[in-house]
Amino acid sequence: MRRFPEPISNLVAAFARLPGVGPKTALRYVFYLLSQPKFDLEVMARALTQLGERIKTCPRCYTYTEREICEICQDPKRDAGLLCVVEEARDISTIESTGMYSGFYHVLGGTLNPIEGMTPDTIRYRQLRERLESEQSIQEVILALSPTTHGEATIMFLQKSLAPLGRSLTRLARGLPLGATLEFADEVTLGDALKGRKQL
Ligand SMILES: [Zn+2]
Repeated sequence: MRRFPEPISNLVAAFARLPGVGPKTALRYVFYLLSQPKFDLEVMARALTQLGERIKTCPRCYTYTEREICEICQDPKRDAGLLCVVEEARDISTIESTGMYSGFYHVLGGTLNPIEGMTPDTIRYRQLRERLESEQSIQEVILALSPTTHGEATIMFLQKSLAPLGRSLTRLARGLPLGATLEFADEVTLGDALKGRKQL
């Protein structure tokens, strides 16, 4: 690639680290931004800074929040008997949008993928176990992971390793397209998958 002034190549490098963005797309984004008013760039820069400064991880469910403990974990009206295990924090908003779930969440932070270094130690498995050991109110653990190869492997691992804790373990009903991630499921399909969840 041709050499660009440092501010351009710095931002190209930053964008190229985003999922699904290669160097060419990154360069296209940067040139687009260069054509925008300086004020818009400042607004965007401020939004990025605030993201880093104000967003924390909830110490209970590990979602992103601006509070010490997230809104869902603090909500006394939620069902303390249900814990829904999701892959990423973004899955919580997908499940919330179905309006079919009223329990609490646990964000695993990934699925098992030994080739990419994702093992039980790199996802929040220990934290999930500790939570189940300390919160006796939890009766059912819904493994709401995507029906992908790694999601399935993770469900099998959790099914086996959480079994001794004596809780009901369920998974989403089939109906979600195989191999698809929860991220792209529509509300109705996901709502049905939740309603028809299966005992493991
Ligand atoms: Zn929380």
